[in-house]
Amino acid sequence: MVAAAIRPETQAIAGVAVEFRGVSHAYELDGNALPVLQEFSLSVAPGEFVALLGPSGCGKSTLLRLAAGLEQPVRGAVFADGSTVDRPDPERVLVFQDPTLFPWRSVRDNVAIGPQARGILATSQARINEALKLVKLDAFASAFPHQLSGGMAQRAALARALVNDPRLLLLDEPFGRLDSLTRLSMQRELLSLWQQAGYSALLVTHDVEEALLLAQRVIVLSERPARIKADIAVDLPYPRRRDAPAIVALRRQALEIMGFAE
Ligand code: ADP
Repeated sequence: MVAAAIRPETQAIAGVAVEFRGVSHAYELDGNALPVLQEFSLSVAPGEFVALLGPSGCGKSTLLRLAAGLEQPVRGAVFADGSTVDRPDPERVLVFQDPTLFPWRSVRDNVAIGPQARGILATSQARINEALKLVKLDAFASAFPHQLSGGMAQRAALARALVNDPRLLLLDEPFGRLDSLTRLSMQRELLSLWQQAGYSALLVTHDVEEALLLAQRVIVLSERPARIKADIAVDLPYPRRRDAPAIVALRRQALEIMGFAE
């Protein structure tokens, strides 16, 4: 792999085009196959921000793991820019609900993990500084995880992902454990990072409002095996307000599709 050049903050990184084509997947549970996906197809355009909403256990995280190359589908394939995804790649980064920082490493050393693993630590110092600055943790570079609030730890996890200049950011309920105010400010930050960097984003969330405030398309999934119940275009400018009539109407529509009539 060629070392990633240090990009100025303003230069856009082209996002990956993602395609799930006829993907079926199953896990083994007590000796039986548990079908999680059946003939699932979905395309994400380069730079598009797509949210996945659906009941717990329907297969959302599995979709992210397949796109990350951490799992291989039983049938069908996932494509990134037309190439089959058959292994993990630093261009496609998964961010979890739990920031999973190494407690014995400083914030900076946690963020440096990707470049270090790729053998480009020495040439990545400026990029690491830039990633810390992007998430507003530059003043906390030498702090340790136990010295951070929940929001700061999640920002460190985001910096650890962004330092690799991902072209696809896979977000698995990244703000699920944060208090509601921290969650709001993290949503705002995620949006501005996406607007600056231009990566494609796939966000798994339980929160209808979060999906509608952030994503350009909201995919509503059925119970397992997940199939697409609705593909809602959210064609509204950013920043969006949760009380904007269009958001309120879309929220009602999404909840109805999910079986929660108000
Ligand atoms: P979601 O993210 O929508 O909550 P997941 O993709 O995590 O759903 O899981 C879908 C289903 O697959 C669930 O029923 C879950 O219990 C099961 N599952 C997930 N991972 C595994 C695994 N490694 N082994 C067995 N079953 C699993």
